[in-house]
Amino acid sequence: MNRKITTVLLVSNDREETKSFNIPTIHVQRFKKYFVSFLSLTALTVIFISYLLISLSSYSNEKQQLMNKIASMENDVKLIDSLNIKTKINDIENNILFFNNYLRERGIKPGDKQKDIGGAVDSNERYDLSVYDYYNNYSALLLSTANNLPLGYPFIGEMRSDYGYRPNPFGGRGSEFHKGLDLKGNIGDTVRCTGEGIVSQADWDKGYGKCVVIKHTYGIECLFGHLSEFNVTTGQKVKAGDVIGFIGSTGRSTGPHLHYEIRVNGIDINPHNFLTLN
Ligand SMILES: [Zn+2]
Repeated sequence: MNRKITTVLLVSNDREETKSFNIPTIHVQRFKKYFVSFLSLTALTVIFISYLLISLSSYSNEKQQLMNKIASMENDVKLIDSLNIKTKINDIENNILFFNNYLRERGIKPGDKQKDIGGAVDSNERYDLSVYDYYNNYSALLLSTANNLPLGYPFIGEMRSDYGYRPNPFGGRGSEFHKGLDLKGNIGDTVRCTGEGIVSQADWDKGYGKCVVIKHTYGIECLFGHLSEFNVTTGQKVKAGDVIGFIGSTGRSTGPHLHYEIRVNGIDINPHNFLTLN
């Protein structure tokens, strides 16, 4: 077999020494191929690593931007929560204020307003807004319930006869059950409605004389008897404080006074339950 040989000649700088050695030509040709392949592979590896580094840096930037965005959104949520809580607390305080004013107008002394119950709101802590909703709805319900209940006195006058058994006011023997309160007054004194409702009667009613009945919610009715004049008509809407008529002595009466009766589902109850909050 004829093997080609390549001679490699090494010469020193001063050309005085020379060295030579023979390599089969096929090895030299193979070495060229390997060398080119190696260079190509190295170039590809460098390009790939550079690409990875650039991608990683861009991903890291993107991640930082997202983290900043999340932090800013968290701050926004906290701010909105805090504003919501403030609004809800204001609503609750307003409801309580209305409620207290309403009771005061009805002649009932409300409790003193306590400021800043529970301390200041910590803006770094998350609160369950539903708790505030609950108290807000509750205070609104309280206000609307109070509006619809007959609270306080319809007329400020001397109590001449209380709810319950009493001797016959017209003299004679025995006693009778008195279904309401008798408040002494003068003919023409104003009688005021004690809660929001609808006039279901403004007419003469046997022993009650000129009589007004007002229907409230929860099956509650108020009766105002022995009036001299009416100031309302049947079907009229009324609210607490409205003048419904004037003190008189009509019907079965011994003198000018107001007979005030409260019924629940048609059954008379002690009006004292509604005169104060006790
Ligand atoms: Zn009476």
